[in-house]
Amino acid sequence: MTYANPQLLIDGQWCDAADGKTMAIVNPANGLEIGRLAHASIVDLDRALAAAQKGFDIWRKTPAVERSAIMRRAAVLLRERSGAIAALMTQEQGKPLAEAKGETMMSAEVIEFFAEEARRVYGRIVPARNLTTQQQVLKEPVGPVAAFTPWNFPINQIVRKMGAALATGCSILVKAPEETPASPAELIRVFVDAGVPAGVVGLVYGDPAEISSYLIAHPVIRKITFTGSTPVGKQLAAMAGLHMKRATMELGGHAPVIVAEDADVELAARSAGAAKFRNAGQVCISPTRFLVHSSLKDSFAAAMVKQVQRLKVGNGMDDGTTMGPLANPRRVTAMAQFTEDAVRRGATVAAGGERIGTTGNFFAPTVLMDVPLDAMVFNDEPFGPMAAIRTFDTLDEAIAESNRLPFGLASYAFTGSLKSAHQIAQNLQVGMLWINQPAMAWPEMPFGGVKDSGYGSEGGIEALEAYLNTKSVSIACV
Ligand code: NAD
Repeated sequence: MTYANPQLLIDGQWCDAADGKTMAIVNPANGLEIGRLAHASIVDLDRALAAAQKGFDIWRKTPAVERSAIMRRAAVLLRERSGAIAALMTQEQGKPLAEAKGETMMSAEVIEFFAEEARRVYGRIVPARNLTTQQQVLKEPVGPVAAFTPWNFPINQIVRKMGAALATGCSILVKAPEETPASPAELIRVFVDAGVPAGVVGLVYGDPAEISSYLIAHPVIRKITFTGSTPVGKQLAAMAGLHMKRATMELGGHAPVIVAEDADVELAARSAGAAKFRNAGQVCISPTRFLVHSSLKDSFAAAMVKQVQRLKVGNGMDDGTTMGPLANPRRVTAMAQFTEDAVRRGATVAAGGERIGTTGNFFAPTVLMDVPLDAMVFNDEPFGPMAAIRTFDTLDEAIAESNRLPFGLASYAFTGSLKSAHQIAQNLQVGMLWINQPAMAWPEMPFGGVKDSGYGSEGGIEALEAYLNTKSVSIACV
């Protein structure tokens, strides 16, 4: 599949923006323009909103088994097209082709999970206080949904929202990421080709702030769902509150990794290292604050550096590449700032720490040692290929440091002790914890954060609740 110019999807039709406006799409591996993207204006949004309302009126009345069947067909098409879609994703986002293919295949699993759950959106009967009355609890789709998704997992960030929305009978209007638009368009296309009625799914791109403020305030939209940074999430959540809209917020993280005294150091470095440098660290659940027992400092640092030395940084389309460029130049600038700040405050660079070349957004996978607590990288989300290591002496100390930041998304721990595993599981203020393994974000498990990392879940049966209203009905038989 050659890189196409992505269009808007409005009322079942692929179209350019009404005013013909487009914007450039750039390949992060070489800085070259690879296509142009349709840029929606308010006129397009109004059409998309009318279509979303029409789609909702059809979809909510479509039996769950039929919705489920259409979703399953979409999953089949996504698998069939995964090779071509992965190539588009790598060209626009930078990640190695194998990672792009993996994301696409996992997205098919996400669709299947929600297709299965579509048939199990149960209400309940509550015993009434007299025998002539029946008390029902009905679960109903909340209405047309507006979804705002980022560029780091161009397909997976959308499919978790689409899966839950479509399973529950909602229509969904997606504002996909402008930086990585073609692979999302192909994801949406599989639903269209699988037979989702016109208007049930819509796709727009444009000015993110203009689109979100217009859609969130609009009476057609009944729920919003956003994945992105905490500052933007807080703005959108405030807007949703103002307009009394339901909201799911999947925001930034700053995952701690506790490597306890009794940890398997090789396992810890291999697992957390793989998780750290996947997608060049541009992952909300990426391990960042490595808290290592002081007795393991040297062995863990050596194992992490070895992990880094095994990585092959390059164009994601090239054979053998295991880490691609960063998705945009902003992240390269940020990585340089994080490194410079940490070193100025006393950290040492054990690996990487600098940009690679002058073409494309390449930054070397970086390991920083003895990072002080006040370093930027120990407080702000780096969202890049940077592991920051410091030591601790007691598990209580490591847990306190893990909970110090306002974020509470992912966390990791390595320990051979069941007692320590329990202590960590019970005391970390996070939405997700992986012990003695890398992150596995399976669709059947809840996915979401606490504190400044947001609210709501994008996995497991919990994900469906966010798209459902509860209605109490009491019927007296007269
Ligand atoms: P950003 O905050 O400018 O944008 C993040 C995403 O939100 C982008 O896709 C952007 O298009 C969208 N966005 C921005 N303003 C918006 C608005 N007013 N309305 C709707 N959508 C809006 O940051 P960035 O420079 O693109 O990315 C860097 C930071 O974003 C990272 O530090 C990370 O914290 C966060 N981020 C998080 C995730 C995640 O998976 N949680 C994904 C991507 C980015």
